[in-house]
Amino acid sequence: MKNIVLFGPPGAGKGTQAELLKNKYDLIHISTGDVFRYNIKNETELGKLAKSYMDKGDLVPDEVTIEMLKAEVENNSNANGFIFDGFPRTTSQAIALDNFLKEKDSRISGMVALEVPENLLIERLLNRGKTSGRPDDQDEEKIRNRFNEYQSKTAILQSYYQDQNKYFGVNGVGSIEDITNRLQLVFNKI
Ligand code: AMP
Repeated sequence: MKNIVLFGPPGAGKGTQAELLKNKYDLIHISTGDVFRYNIKNETELGKLAKSYMDKGDLVPDEVTIEMLKAEVENNSNANGFIFDGFPRTTSQAIALDNFLKEKDSRISGMVALEVPENLLIERLLNRGKTSGRPDDQDEEKIRNRFNEYQSKTAILQSYYQDQNKYFGVNGVGSIEDITNRLQLVFNKI
């Protein structure tokens, strides 16, 4: 099984690239942000809870997010593997994911990180906000808060995976196609 954590700050291009790579490698793409947005749209209890955090650009609590992620994996028990996009975002989530996969005799193959400078990220997010309808992409203050959450809780995961020799950084600046090609070089070897 190939289980890849596609990593990077908001606006790095994880969702776009995951959609392209899932077909090439026959993997299931799980975006926790997308699952939350689906629940918000359908006005589920989970959606109502998630919305109160997402609207501010805060992370949704770990317990809720971890349970949701496990359910998504269980729903795809015949998969060849997964691209995790937007998960894990905290050390607790990373540990929970490792333990959960271990129970299934599986593991994370690698964390592949899209590296993009912050000024470019803000530009990309504000641009996306014009068409995505995402409230958290339309307000620079919310975007800044998402970066703060990323810096204070998520960035540390780089060393979590480096310590296991599973971190692979990829230049996330360039055309979508060039970036897909760079990612494929890494996907092919892990
Ligand atoms: P994304 O679509 O990945 O940019 O996520 C949008 C928002 O969903 C984030 O700002 C968080 O509020 C929430 N979210 C998505 N994934 C997670 C996660 N793994 N842990 C906590 N909150 C999350």
